[in-house]
Amino acid sequence: MKKTTLLATAAALGLGVSPAMAQDYPTQPINMVVPFAAGGPTDTVTRLVAQAMSRELGQQVVVENVGGAGGTLGAARVAQANPDGYTLLLHHIGMSTAPTLYRELPFDPLTDFEYVGLVTEVPMVFVGRNDLEVDTLEDAIAWIKEEGENVMYANAGIGAASHLCGLLFMSEIDTPMTTIPYQGTGPAITDLMGGQVDFLCDQTTNTTNQIRDGSIKPFAVTIPDRLDSLPDVPTTAESSLPGFEITIWHGIYAPSGTPDEVVERLTAALQVALQDETVAERFADLGTAPSPQEDATPEALRAKVESEIELWRPLIEAAGVYAN
Ligand code: ASP
Repeated sequence: MKKTTLLATAAALGLGVSPAMAQDYPTQPINMVVPFAAGGPTDTVTRLVAQAMSRELGQQVVVENVGGAGGTLGAARVAQANPDGYTLLLHHIGMSTAPTLYRELPFDPLTDFEYVGLVTEVPMVFVGRNDLEVDTLEDAIAWIKEEGENVMYANAGIGAASHLCGLLFMSEIDTPMTTIPYQGTGPAITDLMGGQVDFLCDQTTNTTNQIRDGSIKPFAVTIPDRLDSLPDVPTTAESSLPGFEITIWHGIYAPSGTPDEVVERLTAALQVALQDETVAERFADLGTAPSPQEDATPEALRAKVESEIELWRPLIEAAGVYAN
């Protein structure tokens, strides 16, 4: 049954979210869907923020991983959920690239959600398996050009950050690699550490610890300046890819029709969570930072989703990559 029909039926039966219920919100645990596998970068960010939001809301915010199809399965699940504030989504840039990448997308990012606010923006880093015989990005590019489709590039499916970074990279060096999709880069990193795949561009929230302990090889971060958290890793600009920049923003969403009072409560809790010392410290250690308060708002997230749909559309169309 469609959500609108469900809502009409619920209202007819007197089961809607009444203003009084919205005022008491939340009275039970909240489910926060991560549209990727456990242990990956979105999962890491979500668990830190969910814990801090739980403290503020006085209810558990329980993280649920619904991976697959580059994050679109989990997003669709939340789009169709009951709009009562007890099912939320924490998703990244994929919210804005999916409308162009997926001809048949089972949700509309602009009409199927209420927007809670931006959470963080995370740099990416090119990494390879530890026993690659190259140490710089220049040499890695030369090796990839030589090996071409023998090189196994892991990603988290079409529309994932790792897919977008790989897409731009392959177009920049004009060499396709073989892409191996996972339900998230959590399992992709495990395979990279095991040497089953060769190369990956992933967020620092999923690569910093492995770079520090030497279990994967870093080549370059995708931002203009080196990170304090990974000071020895050069930037793309220092490594023969000037202008190659990509960061991955994340936001929190509720199904459309969630009462305004509930969304306001969630935005307020997000803002408190982003000022939490542990969140700030963990984020900094992983190469990122909480979004500023003025961005942790529904208006800022909507503006971001809208502008990034326009930003990515021509890039995706030029690459000619579609999921269905
Ligand atoms: N965000 C994905 C994950 O959490 C990875 C990606 O987008 O590349 O696994």
